[in-house]
Amino acid sequence: MSLCLACGFCCDGTLFNRVPLAEGDDPSLRVALKVLDGQHHGVQPCPALDGTACRVYAQRPLTCRRYRCLLLEAHESHEVSLEGAKQVVEETRALRAALAEAMGTADSGESVDRARARSTSLSEPARQALTRLERALAFHFLGQRSQRR
Ligand code: SF4
Ligand code: SF4
Repeated sequence: MSLCLACGFCCDGTLFNRVPLAEGDDPSLRVALKVLDGQHHGVQPCPALDGTACRVYAQRPLTCRRYRCLLLEAHESHEVSLEGAKQVVEETRALRAALAEAMGTADSGESVDRARARSTSLSEPARQALTRLERALAFHFLGQRSQRR
């Protein structure tokens, strides 16, 4: 299984809460991504995500085609093995699960977005769990080269 099929963080709401659409994108994506008239982005968790797979992969938005997180770049340049990269994904997933547990919610990218929105009113354990998760996401996945949203 490829790294991205073992991950999905850039589609499921863990990293981002929207996907900008470009003029060259397939118009049918507006239906698949449930984009409302006048809006120029799809929401995340992405409605086209099936587990960790993209249901509209062949027509996916330009933003999605171009995106490379730091971990994927490191793996593609042979700095990190597939096994090592998958381990990072699993460790990060465990941090997300810990956040959900501290919040008393189901583990999902959506719960991360909810935690970010309520960050000032979170319980102390949830705030600490969110901080640990954000650090891991920033260190392993995000960076200037991978900004997209
Ligand atoms: S690009 Fe990065 S964040 Fe997105 S699915 Fe692949 S490994 Fe995960
Ligand atoms: S369209 Fe596909 S690649 Fe793009 S965010 Fe949605 S699931 Fe991910």
